[in-house]
Formats: sequence, structure tokens, C-alpha cells
Amino acid sequence: MIKTNKLNTNSSSPREIKYFLDKYVIGQEDAKKTISVAVYNHYKRIYYSYKAKVEIDKSNILMIGDTGTGKTLIAKSISKFLNVPFTIVDATSLTEAGYVGEDVESILTKLLQSANYNIALAEKGIVFIDEIDKISRKNDNPSITRDVSGEGVQQALLKILEGSIVNVPPNVGRKHPEQKLIKLNTKNILFIAGGAFEGLKNIISNRLNLSTIGFKKNVSLDVDGKDLLNFVSSHDIKKFGLIPELIGRLPIITNLNSLERESLKRILLEPNNSIIKQYKELFLLDKIKLKFTDSAIDLIVYKAIKLSLGARGLKTICEKIMKDYMFNIDLIKESLIIDKFDIKLKFK
Ligand code: ADP
Repeated sequence: MIKTNKLNTNSSSPREIKYFLDKYVIGQEDAKKTISVAVYNHYKRIYYSYKAKVEIDKSNILMIGDTGTGKTLIAKSISKFLNVPFTIVDATSLTEAGYVGEDVESILTKLLQSANYNIALAEKGIVFIDEIDKISRKNDNPSITRDVSGEGVQQALLKILEGSIVNVPPNVGRKHPEQKLIKLNTKNILFIAGGAFEGLKNIISNRLNLSTIGFKKNVSLDVDGKDLLNFVSSHDIKKFGLIPELIGRLPIITNLNSLERESLKRILLEPNNSIIKQYKELFLLDKIKLKFTDSAIDLIVYKAIKLSLGARGLKTICEKIMKDYMFNIDLIKESLIIDKFDIKLKFK
């Protein structure tokens, strides 16, 4: 919930925004840079538009990356930095108006709520739409029913994303015909959409005319499979199933890399509120010094990689390891050292 009206928006350079992101988000240099510039331009456009001789387009962002690579974290950190209202919505919960599910206007209801119903503040907020890839057009669906949770939602999102005055119900879920709608202008709301876009790499490699097996080189290009997303174009996303109008409203495309061993290790240890730091703090409150040996840390990372959930896997593994220790915390005296053998025991 935003408590103050002080916006950190018109004084920071892209480099300062990225410097802030660096404190929370490990790796993903390219995405952090792209987003820092986009956010800077977005708020410059809002605050200095009166000086500009041409109208500057809104720079909504599309982030592509596997689960647990930091998409939500980046969006959240940006809103923390700017001190603007922020909300996360799952695109899969939305349906075309009139069908079972949430109307797209509910996105703005949530933003209003996070702004404590301060309309002016909400109108400068940030919305993160997660799982945008899951509402792709269901092309080869033989059913004759309407695609109300796919293309229907994409169509409905257009109006909100492009910047218009939208009638927003003050509460999600309950639909009272007599309920007074709130008018919200979405012109200056920054939309960040994110998704894993599974299968997109194949589309890119086909377009680039690369062999799909291992993405090995052909005559002109030498591309490693994991770098393929660097070549993504709006054409590929269209082929994936987003409609061109929606892609047009998400002009900034950036991709997040899959997290490798070294990054996962840093995520475990480095951020201000890293998982390990949080456990240490929790134990310290009970006057217990908690320590993980280096080999324990390596094993946690190794097990997390096997889960294929990105950094999310680190938490899953740590919870499994720590559950019994937490339960028996009153029996632990002064210190606890977690070694790789303790971890192996938990996974027997
Ligand atoms: P997604 O890409 O699925 O949106 P999230 O941003 O929700 O992933 O990441 C899940 C959790 O993993 C976050 O709470 C965060 O703690 C951690 N995490 C993911 N990526 C990073 C990263 N690049 N740097 C630091 N922490 C990360």
C-alpha cells in the first residue's frame, strides 16, 4: 500500500534505477538496463510532456523468461523504487466480459486498491500482467466455442493498455448493477507483461533457419540455444499467438536468461533479504547462530537446478531442509551448522 504521495520519478537517471535494481535482482543485466531506460522514459514522458514537441509513445514492456528468473521481482522492485502503486495480475484468471472469470477491468480495481483509492496516484501506477503467454490465441482449436480466455482477453486488454478512460468497478468479484463505477485514465499507467513463452525458441530458430536440435549453426549464424531469445522479434511473438494489436502496445521486449549455478548461488546469499539471510535472522531471534557450510550451499543450488523452477526452487529446497529444525527450534542450543550430509539425509 502506498502511504505517501512522494514519487521518486522525475529525479533519477536510468543508471540510478539500474543501480537500485542491482541490489535486489541478480544477473539479468540486459533486462535491467532495458527496463531502467523504459521506466525513465515513461516517467519523463508523464512529467515533461508539456516541453516535448512531438507526442512520445507509451513504453509498455514485455518480459520473456522462464519461471523463477526474476520477472515479477524486477517489476516489484521498480515500483518500490518509484514509490508508485503496484499490482500483479495473472492473465489466466481473466476472461472476456460476460463470461465466468474476472473482467480485465478488475486489473484496474486492484491497482486502485493498492493506491488506497487515490485515483491520481493509481493513474501513475505499474501493473504486472503475469502469464501473458497463457492467453495466446488457440488457433488450431477445433471447438466452435469462442476463445474467451485467449484471444477474447487479448482484445479486451487492448483498450486498457493503449490509454483510455475506463470505467472501473470499485470492488473485484461482486457485480452490483447499481455499483458506482470509477473513471480511471490509463494513459500514464505502465504495463509490464511477463511470460515464459515455452516453444518460442523453436519459432525463433525456425525463422533464423537454424537446426532445432541443439540450435547449432548454419552457414551464417552461430547461436547457442540459450541465447536464442536475444533474437526474438514481434513476428515470433505473433506466431506464438499474441495478436499484433497487443504486441504493438508492448513495444519494449526484453528477455531474462535462465539462471545458472553461479547466479543461483548469489541469489541464495547476496540480496539484502536473501533466503539464507532470512533464515539466519529468524534463528538469531531465538539466539541461535545458524551457519551453512560451503558444500551445503552448493548442494542446495544443485538440487534447485534439478527442480527447473529457477530461483523459486531454492526456496522449495531450503524449506524442506529447514522444516524440522524450525519445528524443534526450542531444542537447539546456541548454534546450528547445516552441512551437506544433513541435506542428503533430508532427501533420502
Ligand atoms: P518469475 O520470473 O516467475 O516472475 P519471480 O520474480 O517471481 O519469478 O522470482 C521468484 C523468486 O525467486 C523471487 O521471490 C526472488 O526471490 C527469486 N529470484 C528470481 N530471480 C531472481 C534474480 N534474478 N535475482 C534475485 N532473486 C531472484
